[in-house]
Order: sequence, then structure tokens, then C-alpha cells
Amino acid sequence: MKIVTDGIVIREQPVKESDKVITVLTRHNGIIHAYASGAKNIKNAKSTATGLLTYSQFVFYKSRERYVADEANAKEVFIGLRNDIQKLALAQYFCELAGAVVQEEEPSEEQLRLTLNSLYVLSKSLKPEAQVKAAFEFRMMALCGFMPDLVCCGECAVYEHEKMMFLPEEGSLLCGDCAGISKKHSVLTGLGATAAMRHCVYSEFDKLFAFSVSEAALGSLQKASEEYVTACLDRSFKTLDFYRSLCG
Ligand SMILES: [Zn+2]
Repeated sequence: MKIVTDGIVIREQPVKESDKVITVLTRHNGIIHAYASGAKNIKNAKSTATGLLTYSQFVFYKSRERYVADEANAKEVFIGLRNDIQKLALAQYFCELAGAVVQEEEPSEEQLRLTLNSLYVLSKSLKPEAQVKAAFEFRMMALCGFMPDLVCCGECAVYEHEKMMFLPEEGSLLCGDCAGISKKHSVLTGLGATAAMRHCVYSEFDKLFAFSVSEAALGSLQKASEEYVTACLDRSFKTLDFYRSLCG
């Protein structure tokens, strides 16, 4: 069966001397693991198009449960990520997270669009890294079956509170009054970071990155999104640990 789709390479593993297995987040078929023969050879046109963080047009052949990348043509290589190790590390974490939550054989148009847009904003330095990271994390989780409930306090339904708290394990909010009697782990998100979290999850896609937060609120937002990912998936990410080590 022949499959024509576009997608971004989120992982590459060398196999034998000149081949590799690539993992691609595709528009129509979700995550695909495909064998790319000769793709490690620099002279091979497939080499660039099957490289990590390259967005390409692919022709795959599927026989039994195996995919082979027959053709690949690069459309975008995100050059701005390649000469900045911190941005590159964050981009690799986006790839690892996408690989963990996007399903195989499922149309994943929005997840692909989110990944491409996040890498574009990151590569062009259009927004602070921490903001791109939090927006990517919250939105990707929401798209992949982990939609938090950020409408109001889960106990008393108040919409705004100076001491609004986010509960990563529940994916919900508690206001300062109700949080006082709760023993659950929470992150203080107050007014600014709570508004930013709502934006990350509920905004129209085109406006996802169009918000600003104070430095302090950005710190809370980042803590909330990272703890939410960890709580939902109950795992760590090597690429995230590496990114954190670079942030100091
Ligand atoms: Zn309350």
C-alpha cells in the first residue's frame, strides 16, 4: 500500500552502515516508524529529508506492518534551531513528547500543525522559550486526550482569584479559599498564569502564541505545564532533563 503524506521527523536511529529507521509525525497517519535505506549517505537526496526536525513530503510503502520511506523531499529544515544548542534541545523535547502522546494510524493534523508552529516560533525567537514550551505542552496534552479543566475553581466555581491554584494531578483549578482546606499538591498560578493557561488550552489555534505574561507569571505557567505533563504521563523525558541542564 502506498501512502503519500507530509510529516516531521521526530526521531532517527541508524541501522547498519547506511540505513536508518525514522519516526515521523505525519498529517494523515499519526506516528509512523519507517525504514529508510541509504538515508545515512550524504549523497543520497533522502538524507536531508529524513533528518531529525526536518518537515518533508513522504511517500511510504506499507507491507504487512512495516513501513518503508520510498521518497522524501524536504520542505522546511528550521535552520534557526540548528545553531543554538538550547533551542535545539527544547525542539528535541517537543519531538519526544509528541512521540509519547500522538497515536499511530490516527489522523494528526492538529498535532502536526502545533509542532510545526512551535518550532517556527522557537526558531525565529518570536516568543520567550518558556512561553513556547508551556503553550506546546498544554496544547499537545489537550489534543491527545489529556484536556485539563481550567474553567473555574473545581469546588466553588469562582472564575478568578488572586490565589488560584492549579492541581497537576487532577488537571483542575482550586481558588485560594478552597485550596486552604485541600491537601492536594498544587502550583500557585494566581491571575496571570491562570489566564495564560486558559489561553494555551482554549484559544483559537491561530492565536495560540499571541499572549504575553509577566516574568513571574511565566515561571508559574512553566511549572504548571511541566508538572501537568509529568502527572499525566507518569514518566520523565531525557530530552527535557538535558534542556533543563542547559537552562542552568
Ligand atoms: Zn473555590
